[in-house]
Amino acid sequence: MPKCPHCNYELTLLERRRKYKCSKCSKLFPQIEIETKDFVEFNKRQRKLDEEALTEQKLKQLELDKFVKKQAQIQRKAKMEELRPIKFQEYYKLNKEKILAKQKIFRHENGQRINLRHRILHRLNIEERRQLSRINAWRNKNRLLTADITKNGLFSFYNTESDDIMPTSSLSYLL
Ligand SMILES: [Zn+2]
Repeated sequence: MPKCPHCNYELTLLERRRKYKCSKCSKLFPQIEIETKDFVEFNKRQRKLDEEALTEQKLKQLELDKFVKKQAQIQRKAKMEELRPIKFQEYYKLNKEKILAKQKIFRHENGQRINLRHRILHRLNIEERRQLSRINAWRNKNRLLTADITKNGLFSFYNTESDDIMPTSSLSYLL
């Protein structure tokens, strides 16, 4: 109900005259003026209420979020406590099918990539193995050469020091 701008008493609408009349101070106000003013104030009040409700809602939501977060944290912690004593082997035993299924899916999805990687590694390994055997052959040759020189008396260092350089296996070839 609109109020009188002068005495704040309730106004009565005189419909035919399109005016509001205050029954206390008997003043008349154009209907449009009062209603516009009233509407503006109503809006203002409503906005304020909405804002308050929104703030309250926000606070409630924040509290709810906090609660949910805390609950999740508690559950996570409980689950970790529960899993802690289970060793991997036991875990594997309990979840074997799940783990194997996951591995199968992974292989299926990445099979081509894995195969290519294995092929490249194999090729790289061949080269590495060849290099290693070449180095070993060269080392062995050096050892035998050293042993040969020692045997012929060019160097007389057959003591504990040379044991480190010449393994007896390389010397057995000469015997
Ligand atoms: Zn009045």
